[in-house]
Amino acid sequence: MLTTLNKLDTFKSEPNTDFSNNKEVEALKDAIASFREQLGETCPVVIGGEKIFTEDKITSINPGTKREVVGYSSKANREMAERALQTAFKTFDTWKKTAAADRADYLFKAAELMRKRRHELSAVLIIESGKNYEEADAEVSEAIDFLEFYGRSMIQLEEDTHQLKSIPDETNKLKYIPLGVGFIVPPWNFPLAICVGLTVSSVVTGNTTLLKPASNTTIIAYKFFEIMETIGLPDGVINFIPGDSSEIGDYITGHPQTRFVSFTGSKDVGLHINELAGKTAKGQKWIKRVNAEMGGKDGIVIDETADLVSAAKAIVQSAFSFQGQKCSAGSRAIIVESVYDNLVEKIVNLTKELSIGNGEDNHFIGPVIDEKAYKSILNYIEIGRKEAKLVVGGDAGMEEGFYINPTIFVDADQDSTIMQEEIFGPVLAIAKARDWEHAIEIYNNTNYGLTGAFFSTDETRIELAIERMYCGNLYVNRNCTGALVGVHPFGGFNLSGTDSKAGGYDYLKLFSQGKLYTVKH
Ligand code: NAP
Ligand code: MG
Repeated sequence: MLTTLNKLDTFKSEPNTDFSNNKEVEALKDAIASFREQLGETCPVVIGGEKIFTEDKITSINPGTKREVVGYSSKANREMAERALQTAFKTFDTWKKTAAADRADYLFKAAELMRKRRHELSAVLIIESGKNYEEADAEVSEAIDFLEFYGRSMIQLEEDTHQLKSIPDETNKLKYIPLGVGFIVPPWNFPLAICVGLTVSSVVTGNTTLLKPASNTTIIAYKFFEIMETIGLPDGVINFIPGDSSEIGDYITGHPQTRFVSFTGSKDVGLHINELAGKTAKGQKWIKRVNAEMGGKDGIVIDETADLVSAAKAIVQSAFSFQGQKCSAGSRAIIVESVYDNLVEKIVNLTKELSIGNGEDNHFIGPVIDEKAYKSILNYIEIGRKEAKLVVGGDAGMEEGFYINPTIFVDADQDSTIMQEEIFGPVLAIAKARDWEHAIEIYNNTNYGLTGAFFSTDETRIELAIERMYCGNLYVNRNCTGALVGVHPFGGFNLSGTDSKAGGYDYLKLFSQGKLYTVKH
């Protein structure tokens, strides 16, 4: 047990692998080769430790080589969802009584195992989600960070005095106790890190869970489940229920015994879950809690005093890393008139240099996740052609996978579709502003509010930008992607979500309720 090492001030970000060291590259390639030998296996539904293999399956495809099946996943139906719920409900009785430090210890053990298996996990991410080495490796680090950070957060939350004032003749204590059964719904774009973060934050606070992984990325989600099984997490604390959202999603959200939903995904699904959870089901004894982190239309604002070389790099990195499939992707750049042409030229030149191809060969730009995304992004590109001026890309890449060339539109109107809707692909829209204040107005003209960045060297403007740019995560003079656990607690405003700051100390309170007790002397 790590109780002497458990406080948040002992938390350190997990270092990423240094791929300039050829040995690491070889080790990752070996891991990819050995994962290839396991392709085509089927993962089960797991309820209270019981593994169920179903006839009906979800097929996981390699988006970079779409004829390659990564694996299959069994599919929970409604009856299994009900059973999983009853199992979680029953397990809650014992799990909630497990000491906070013991619960945290499971997370520390899982972190240790992930460290040992980091290349293996990266290999799965690369093949199943189309990430390149750095993106996959950084995601494994993030998953480890969530485990280490939430483990420590739990111990700190348990020991915290919560600044209660003392009065004579009474002992007062505020203790955060768990809620009950949580429905955990992660997205495919960080199919390890977010899946881990959403699940273990609930588990470490003493809740039991139904984990429904995103259907595109069930294999990596099951790897995580297996790790929790290997380190000895009691059966029934996490019940693994891949399946059709239409068959089991609304059923679980609407169920009277579901206590909360922890969701990360698109705006439409998040709003739907929020609405459904707001209805009180027959027999329900509580108001369901929903933490929903949703989409973004994030942007970078650049004024004429900015370092244009570093701004161009940040814009390209933010717009195109992982093919623009990040909720934090900088899909808009808003540039003041006086440096517009100069900066656009730099951005275009950098974009033309990006290498495109399979994540396995570590190209900067890989495939988008699936056919549906591929078609939707190409459709947005067609809309963009009518709305603005295409300067790079605009077409599909190699046919063996879902490749789309990085695409840039310039002179976009702030109200146009490509400046308003989340495209979730490698498409950047650039707009021209009269001056820095106008640029911030354009930035704020959105229903979203997740991340943003401001490039300037003017101290007064920086201060005002911090005040005016309305988003959950604002970065000055750097890219708008790449939040670190514990360093940049992450969550957005407006229709980007409930601003439940993932990777922040307060996060665990969202999965617990404060019980105040007083003992009169
Ligand atoms: P999605 O289509 O909304 O799916 C997210 C999850 O919800 C998946 O597991 C999906 O299952 C499930 N789901 C769909 N309908 C459901 C229902 N009625 N009930 C319960 N679950 C349901 O999003 P995505 O395409 O996976 O992810 C991309 C989106 O996530 C983008 O909008 C991105 O911005 C957002 N995102 C936000 C953050 C953040 O922190 N704000 C972080 C990452 C991603 P199936 O896969 O089976 O459909
Ligand atoms: Mg989806």
